[in-house]
Amino acid sequence: MLTLWTACLLPALANGAVWKASAENPPAVTCEKNAAEPVAFAAAELRRYLGRILGTTLPEIAGGDAQPIIHLAVDAGGDSTKEGYELRAEGPTFHITGQSPLGVVFGAYEFLRRHGGCRFADLGPDGEFVPHKERIEAPAAPVRMEPKLAYRGLQFSFYEDPELSRQRIDWMAKNGMNYVMYRPAPEHLPPESVVTVDSDTGEVQKPEVCNVYWWFSKSWFDKVLRPEVRKRGMKLDMNHHNFLYWLPQGRYFADHPEWYSLVDGKRGGRFSQMCICTSNPEAVAQLIQNIRKYLRENPEVKVVGVIPQDHMAMCQCDRCVAGDPNPADAFEKTSWKTGNRSKVLRYAKLLNAVADAIRDDFPDVHVGGEAYHDLLWPSRDVQLDPRTVIWLAVHMRDGCRPIQAGKQSAANDKIFAILAEWKKVYQGRLILYEYYMGMNAQRSLPYPMSEVICEDWPHLKKLGVEGATVQCWTSNHSAYVLNNLAFARCGWHDHVDHAEIMDDYLLGAYGSVGEQVRPIFEGLVQATRDLAGGTSAMRPSAGNVRYFLDKVGRDRIRQCLAQASQDAAGERERRQVEKLVAAVRYWELAADTFNCYNKAAGLKKSDPRAGLQLLDELLEETWPELLKYTQPSSAPGWVCITVPSLWERTRKSAQSLREELRTLVAAESPPP
Ligand SMILES: [Zn+2]
Repeated sequence: MLTLWTACLLPALANGAVWKASAENPPAVTCEKNAAEPVAFAAAELRRYLGRILGTTLPEIAGGDAQPIIHLAVDAGGDSTKEGYELRAEGPTFHITGQSPLGVVFGAYEFLRRHGGCRFADLGPDGEFVPHKERIEAPAAPVRMEPKLAYRGLQFSFYEDPELSRQRIDWMAKNGMNYVMYRPAPEHLPPESVVTVDSDTGEVQKPEVCNVYWWFSKSWFDKVLRPEVRKRGMKLDMNHHNFLYWLPQGRYFADHPEWYSLVDGKRGGRFSQMCICTSNPEAVAQLIQNIRKYLRENPEVKVVGVIPQDHMAMCQCDRCVAGDPNPADAFEKTSWKTGNRSKVLRYAKLLNAVADAIRDDFPDVHVGGEAYHDLLWPSRDVQLDPRTVIWLAVHMRDGCRPIQAGKQSAANDKIFAILAEWKKVYQGRLILYEYYMGMNAQRSLPYPMSEVICEDWPHLKKLGVEGATVQCWTSNHSAYVLNNLAFARCGWHDHVDHAEIMDDYLLGAYGSVGEQVRPIFEGLVQATRDLAGGTSAMRPSAGNVRYFLDKVGRDRIRQCLAQASQDAAGERERRQVEKLVAAVRYWELAADTFNCYNKAAGLKKSDPRAGLQLLDELLEETWPELLKYTQPSSAPGWVCITVPSLWERTRKSAQSLREELRTLVAAESPPP
């Protein structure tokens, strides 16, 4: 039913009919009484935002003939798995018609963006620009949109601030994203590492001590985040290293050790990667039974991942090895470069068994699989069921150049070749597992990829890649939001103009002072462009921050921030600039720490006394301030909860270097 909306612009200009509403004559937003929850939600959102834009309360029901109406509905003849929508006016009624309830939600936000002037740039009300207008006008001719990528998702893997987490789901819907990937804590985790909900009282239980960060239980997700997903009609992907979620060793190992991999002569010798004995039919049957139960209880789950645990292992039992194309594979060290043909085959057979077992009862559910580590290449021995969604992890990518052949990047050439190999033999849905936040290694410091992302997707789409699940956190969403905005837009448009993304971000996140902070963000993008012009690759590393700050210039950044602080209009803009000021201070302290440490290490031989002095300054002056800014509360949304533990490693290195230098200095000048 739907075609490219651009094709429909010309008739709109030709017939010139325009739908109008104003503060004096505000629209009534209507939908069927028994409309699905997401449709009613979209109507409430339209009322809320249009009321703010026009500065008035919208009428509850439609009045006379001249009363403008916005009517929301789902196209009755549509395919409910689709997510497109049509915007079109007929007389005084503006129709937002979705192919599904989620399509209506996307259509409502697009109406607010396109005709209301809203920009949903960052988390929560502070991250959005909502203009004041006397009138709203929209061309009557139909605008039809359908996503260009089937999978547009972010991840929720650990317990983070509940309010910010809810805001991130809201941000996803506003920017046309559809899949929430989540990973509830498996049974074997100790209770002190899991935030859960008391089954009697319904209260959230948070352990007192936290070493690094908490996981969340399924009950916590169901209570706090799942309602947000459901009310918007979004889709859940239960995914990510979850073999042991489906077959918990605590529940089954004592009675059935033979269900788990034989590694180095021991059943359950290592609960890593392919830790299940997949040639054991009872083990596979139990895993499938548990998955089917989960799908019955969780109808929003549209992708059910069956994903090996992290790290490396596979079963070495006779029955497993007997089915291997190469009997040595189970005993050799393999990597993503070599691949492991036998492990790939075992995994493909398991995915096919699950896909087969859910096909009839859950026709709209896909089985998720991974292409990662030595499972990166497709199987040469068996066809994967087309009802699978495989994410291919691109952890080795060069972030300053697009994934495209012939772009002076050996790593990206290789990824492109692997993707092409998959597309030759695989009929299912191939997506990327992307790292637009530069992994944990980046420590919430800048990783400006937004322009590269806009360059990536035309080529990836041509190859047949159908989207990405983006590894990301709630607590540093703002640090990488420009990257994710670029990806979200690529999900709906064939060609995305990066300048438009930048304009929307600056207006959305900073309102009237967007121009004052523009040189910071454009400077970062330019620095990535400069890297691509040279021969180096861009890979996740916290040390990158020194390059980026030098390129953009600390003085320039400070001037921009000072001007923005001075010119900020209203509390929202002031708060947004304050958060950016804190984030930039964190960047500076991080760069200072690395500079100081490297300089001190360099002085070890020539002048250990000077090196020691530098480390004293680092550990006694810079460090306490850095520590303050590594707390997510210093700039909510900018610094991830994993960051303090990563910096602790740096502190330990600095301390041991200090001890070393002290010894050298003492040897140089023995006491009199
Ligand atoms: Zn086995």
